[in-house]
Amino acid sequence: MRTIPFNKPSVGQRELDYVAECLRGNKHSGDGPFTKRCHEAFRTMGLGHALLTTSCTDALEMTALLLDIGPGDEVILPSFTFVSSANAFVLRGAMLRFADSGVDDPNISPDAIEALITPRTKAIVVVHYAGVACDMDRIGDIARRHGIAIVEDAAQAIDSYHRGRPLGTIGDLGALSFHDTKNISAGEGGLLLVRDEAMQQRAEIIREKGTNRSAFFRGEVDKYGWVDIGSSFLPSDVLAAYLLAQLERLDEIQARRRAIWTRYDRALSTQVGACGVRTARLPEWATNNAHMFYLVCADLEQRQRLIDGLRTAGISAASHYLSLHSSPYFHRFHDGRSLPNSDHYTDTIVRLPLFADMTEAQADRVAEEVLGILTA
Ligand SMILES: *Cc1c(COP(=O)(O)O)cnc(C)c1O
Repeated sequence: MRTIPFNKPSVGQRELDYVAECLRGNKHSGDGPFTKRCHEAFRTMGLGHALLTTSCTDALEMTALLLDIGPGDEVILPSFTFVSSANAFVLRGAMLRFADSGVDDPNISPDAIEALITPRTKAIVVVHYAGVACDMDRIGDIARRHGIAIVEDAAQAIDSYHRGRPLGTIGDLGALSFHDTKNISAGEGGLLLVRDEAMQQRAEIIREKGTNRSAFFRGEVDKYGWVDIGSSFLPSDVLAAYLLAQLERLDEIQARRRAIWTRYDRALSTQVGACGVRTARLPEWATNNAHMFYLVCADLEQRQRLIDGLRTAGISAASHYLSLHSSPYFHRFHDGRSLPNSDHYTDTIVRLPLFADMTEAQADRVAEEVLGILTA
């Protein structure tokens, strides 16, 4: 039986060439020539001031440092998200206030945000699930009215937009991921996007162990020293070489991912309705970057049957986040509110295999198996 993995990194000759070129040179540490070329490429894509980081997790930790989050501060975020959106702020001693997802998609509900705001609220973290934009008009309005910062966890959102603006550039700070489960990869890697100019300077310093080393290398100061808190958040130039090749192949990779996504959509979106299953809904303000093709099952039991059935057929499908408000670490701090939409997505989402080097024939086989299992 030929198996179909859930994900497979797409590595071509260009990735191998750039990594070899980097290794043959004598600058393998951070902020070398490949990092600079990545930064330039991100600027060209309209992402503004971009800094490569070792991961999206680290970029999120930098946002917490940049916003001076500390004990006594509250941060509002969705419960249906990856643990890194939460950990970054818990590490600074903040209290998390989990907001429910909406009914239509797993993104954070603006009404739920509004209900959680107190004088101690310091930041709202939005997560663009599956690369589909949150309701940034309403969330931006709430944040402005209360003078609260917005952090975009845009880990899954490369090449996706809200009313034409790239995700990650709409809030005060944005974080993207290049983990090998994302659309483009450096194996591990991330990106921090910073809007405010003063914060851009501070971000450089925090990323370089709290030193003004970047300004020194630009010749702006004649010595560099310890000027702020910080850590080592810059990736090796070897990883930047891998990422640059992926960035230059972005259009090609995206075209392949979109072709597979559309294939699934045509085979499944109407057909699964009869079994109480639905596919993703795309709000009018959002684009689809083909990060993920997911189904929302009727209940936990049906989802388990689907995942098990696909596994028997040699196909890897995956559930997703366990609501963070009821996680082993956090549940004792949670205020007890029930978050029914978050729990519903925890129980019912299943993600189908989707990667650039997947063939149409593989997508057809997955879709056929899905329909077979659901109607059995
Ligand atoms: C992947 C992901 C992260 C973490 O990204 P890393 O680069 O692995 O640290 C954070 N948030 C969300 C929503 C993600 O999907």
